[in-house]
Amino acid sequence: MGCLIYSDPHEDGYVQGDTFPNGAWRPKDGVQRGSVADMPIYPGDPLTPGIGATKNAKRLPVKDAPTITKIPVLPISYGDAQPLLAALTGRVAPEAWRGGLGITYHVGPGAAKVHLKVKSNWEPLKPVYDVIAKIPGSSFPDEWVIRGNHHDAWVNGAEDPTSGMVAVLEEGRALGELLKAGWKPKRTIILCAWDGEEPGLLGSTEWAEEHYDDLRAHAVAYVNSDSNGRGYFGVEGSHTLEKFSNDVARDVSDPETQLSAWKRSRLHEIATAKSADQRKEIRERADLRIPALGSGSDYTAFLQHDGIASLNIGFGGEDGGGIYHSIYDDFYWYTHFSDTDFVYGRALAQTGGTAVMRLADADLLPFEFGNFADTVQTYVKELKALAEKTHDEIRERNREIEEGVFKASDDPRQPLVAPKVETVPPHLNFAPIENAAEEVTRSAAEYHKAFEEANANGGARLASASVAEVNRLLIQSERKLTNSEGLPNRPWFKHQLYAPGFYTGYAVKTVPAVREAIEQKQWKQADEAIAVVAGVLRDEAALISSAAAKLAAK
Ligand SMILES: [Zn+2]
Repeated sequence: MGCLIYSDPHEDGYVQGDTFPNGAWRPKDGVQRGSVADMPIYPGDPLTPGIGATKNAKRLPVKDAPTITKIPVLPISYGDAQPLLAALTGRVAPEAWRGGLGITYHVGPGAAKVHLKVKSNWEPLKPVYDVIAKIPGSSFPDEWVIRGNHHDAWVNGAEDPTSGMVAVLEEGRALGELLKAGWKPKRTIILCAWDGEEPGLLGSTEWAEEHYDDLRAHAVAYVNSDSNGRGYFGVEGSHTLEKFSNDVARDVSDPETQLSAWKRSRLHEIATAKSADQRKEIRERADLRIPALGSGSDYTAFLQHDGIASLNIGFGGEDGGGIYHSIYDDFYWYTHFSDTDFVYGRALAQTGGTAVMRLADADLLPFEFGNFADTVQTYVKELKALAEKTHDEIRERNREIEEGVFKASDDPRQPLVAPKVETVPPHLNFAPIENAAEEVTRSAAEYHKAFEEANANGGARLASASVAEVNRLLIQSERKLTNSEGLPNRPWFKHQLYAPGFYTGYAVKTVPAVREAIEQKQWKQADEAIAVVAGVLRDEAALISSAAAKLAAK
């Protein structure tokens, strides 16, 4: 058995735009590389889960590493995939499975035979090199602001990762100039160039595992970028930093429209909103919502293992994405089809640099809990709706089976497997998580009130000594969203609000233990997970309340 993966022109080839060399999109022979390690279990060195690779760790034998998949896999181009797909017979593929090649897509089986020969490098150990630079903080050297991007690439890597890495280098150069001019950051700034991101987030994960205790004690936030291009500013991450990331984007100018990066993103979101309700919210809400982080770049270990508030930033959307992870991602492509005059590279450095300097120099750290509480409430509503929908779907399907709907509408000459009657699930008890979300909302209001009072009269009180104590609590606010047991089936992932999908990979599943239990129809586990997440949220609310009380104290 083997697995061949190709990128269909429907997603990133001629259906989207002109192909290279006439345009930016993937040509017939473009092959998208990528890791197929089972990273939703844990990323990093497959042989040392949870342990930094340079520690004297006991390594798993390769055959026992759960993240090394056992089926050989190769990526191929659509040029090579087309004859294989054309040889498939059987039922016509469902609409969502059809691509943009000029053939009828079938699900198989078919007559085509493939001779698959995979040669892998199984040398057991190979060094990867992280580059770490540190500017010690002048007032709070034990509070660390971390900024990173990876430096390894699948092939040439002009866009991924160099377009992001050069911004971090430029930020480092600018901070160096400021140091020479006499400026010193109040907090410690750590700039990182990660190695081995593409094969499995190796460099960042091993570093974040190795320094786990120190990072849990000292890290304020991690700001990641990966690739950059022409277009709209995008940010994803921790919702305690949602307002902060909006504020940074308000102060960076979009180089091609001269609007602020924030305003351009906002107007773009209105243009692409899916409903009138969505447009209304964008127009009325003070800040743009930021998506949560799943996985796929170096923030993973910081956010989901160490519990450090994280942001992922970049520009893009006006350049074609058809060269991703292929040999075509080179300097020629980048300077012809992406950020051809590097103005968005400068904008990214301005954004990352502004974020880092504000985090490093703020009297009171810019965490905010109103948007966070609002997001938690949204998640709880989504989970309730998901449970309700699953419930209704099972009822409806059972009824249709009883009515004979499937048998009557199936093609007797090409029959499908008939669905089976399922037990109608019990109603879940959402009360614990709803009450906990209310506590978060109440504590967020307390914090907001204390902040408004402290910030009055020019904010003089924000520079007082008691604010340092508030900051120490704020730094722990993301840590509180983790627990030491981690998620069911994957203890490495400790964050209870954000994780990549266990079955779906990269993309985020919010409140994963609850959401995935519902999706998998594991009702008992869903009820248990609701109680666990409610506990985590109550702890978070307690921390926010004590931060509010400290901030309010004279
Ligand atoms: Zn990358």
